[in-house]
Amino acid sequence: MKGYEAVIGLEVHAQLLTKSKIFCGCATNFGSKPNRNTCPICLGMPGTLPTFNKSALEFAIKVAIATNCKITQFGQFARKNYFYPDLPKGYQISQYELPVAKDGWIEIFDKDSKKRIGLTRIHLEEDAGKLLHDQGERSNVSYIDFNRTGVPLIEIVSEPDIRNPEEASQYLQTLRLILLYLEVCDGNMEEGSFRCDANVSVRLKGEKILGTRVELKNLNSFRFVQKALEYEIDRQIKVLEGRDTIIQETRLWDTTEDITISMRGKEEAHDYRYFPDPDLVPIVIEKKWIEKINRSIPELPLAKRARFIDEYNLPLYDAEILISSKELSDFFEACAGLYNKPKIISNWIMGELLRELNREHRKVSECPVTPLMLTSLLELIDKGLISTNIAKTVFSQMYNTGKPPVEIVKDRGLTQITDKEELEKIVIQVLDKNTDKVLEFKKGKEKLFGFFMGQIMKATSGKANPGIAKEILTEKLKN
Ligand code: ADP
Ligand code: MG
Ligand code: ZN
Repeated sequence: MKGYEAVIGLEVHAQLLTKSKIFCGCATNFGSKPNRNTCPICLGMPGTLPTFNKSALEFAIKVAIATNCKITQFGQFARKNYFYPDLPKGYQISQYELPVAKDGWIEIFDKDSKKRIGLTRIHLEEDAGKLLHDQGERSNVSYIDFNRTGVPLIEIVSEPDIRNPEEASQYLQTLRLILLYLEVCDGNMEEGSFRCDANVSVRLKGEKILGTRVELKNLNSFRFVQKALEYEIDRQIKVLEGRDTIIQETRLWDTTEDITISMRGKEEAHDYRYFPDPDLVPIVIEKKWIEKINRSIPELPLAKRARFIDEYNLPLYDAEILISSKELSDFFEACAGLYNKPKIISNWIMGELLRELNREHRKVSECPVTPLMLTSLLELIDKGLISTNIAKTVFSQMYNTGKPPVEIVKDRGLTQITDKEELEKIVIQVLDKNTDKVLEFKKGKEKLFGFFMGQIMKATSGKANPGIAKEILTEKLKN
C-alpha cells in the first residue's frame, strides 16, 4: 500500500432479542404483516409516554461484560433530533453523554497473533421504521412499515484501532459470535439485525494525526464490508496522491458496480441537538444486578476455543470451526462425552455432518443425527463391524432417515466381511479375472496392488475388511 496505512473504526447496530420493544409492549418479531406490531407509543402519537424495557438493559449489560467494558452506573436517554419519514416522533431516543458502557475491548485473531480492538462505547437506542420503495409500475410510491420502530438496538462503537479490511471482517465476526453466544441478538446481517457502518481514513505510515474519515453504509455482509473498505482505501490513496483532499462524507456501497458512491455530507453531533429526554427517568444500575447478570454469562467463544485445544488436544483449525456456533460446539462436546476420541469426532463433524447441513442450509438444531447416533456409528467402525467407507454411507442414511446406525447396518446387510474363507474366495475370483495384471504385478508393477484392492472392494460393495483382505491378497500374489 505504498507508504500509506488505513485507519478503520466500526459502528455496529445490533437488534436485541427482547420479546417486546424498548419503550412499549409491542412485539419485536421479524416478518409480521406491515404495521401490525405497532401502538400509539411506537407510532409517536402526541401525549403518549415511553416506559423502559428492563430486558433491553440486561442484554446490553451482558454485552458490556463480555466485551470488557466499564458499565456506567448512571445512564440517561437523550433525544437525537432529525427528520426522516420512518421516524414518526421527529427524534430518536438514544444515549449520548451517558451510555450504558464505555472503554472495553475485544480480542481478534489474525492467524496466530492476537490483537485487541478497543471499544469506545455501547449505548441503547430505538430502531427506526423501514421504507419500502415500490419497484414496479408504481415506482414513484414509497411505503412505511413501522414494525421495526422501537425495536431495541445497541450501538457498539469501536476505537479506530483496525488497520485493514481483513481485521475489520475478523472484528465483526468475533463480535457477532459473542452476541450469538450471549443469545442477545440473532446476528442476521441480511435481515438487518446486525448492521455495520465502517469509518475509514488513510494516512502516511508513521503519521500520528488521523486523516479525514469517510463513513460507509449499506454493508449487509462480511464480504461487502471487506470489499467496500478495499475499494475505499484505494480511492482515498488515489485522491491524496493526486494532491486532492478527502471530503468527510457518507458513502454507500453499490453492490452492482462494486464501488462506493457519495450519499451525503457527514453530519456532526451538534447537528442533532441532543438533549436529555424529559419523558424517561435516568437509569441507575446497581452493582448487585451487574453481579447477578455476570453469573449468567456463558463460556464465550475465545475461551471455548482455547479449552477445546487444551482439553481435547484439537488443532486450532478444528477448534475454530467447532466453536463457530454454540450449537455445534455443544454437539461436539456431547459426542466427546460419549466417545473418547475427540479428533475423530471432530473430523466427522467437520466433514460429513457439516457437509450435509450446509447442503440444505440447515441449522445444527435441525440435524436429524444426534450425538449418540454419530458416536454409535464410530463405535461400529472401532469394533470392525463396518469400514470407514461404509460408515459414510450409513451416515448419510442416518441423516436422511433419522434411524440409528445399528439398525441401518442390519437392515441393509452392510456388516463388514471379516470371514477369511469368504474373503479368500473373492480374492481368488478377482485374481482369476485379471491374470494379465497379475503377471504385470509379478514383473514388478507393484502399484497394481491398489487396483486389486479396489476390485475386491467393488466385488463386496465395500464391505471387505481392508486389513484382512490386504493380508490375503499379499499372500496370494506371492504364489
Ligand atoms: P458518528 O455517529 O458521527 O459516526 P461515532 O462516534 O458514533 O460517530 O463513530 C465514529 C467512528 O468512526 C468510531 O468507530 C471511530 O473509531 C471512527 N473514527 C473516528 N475518526 C476516524 C478516522 N479519522 N478514521 C477512521 N475512523 C475514525
Ligand atoms: Mg457514524
Ligand atoms: Zn408499540
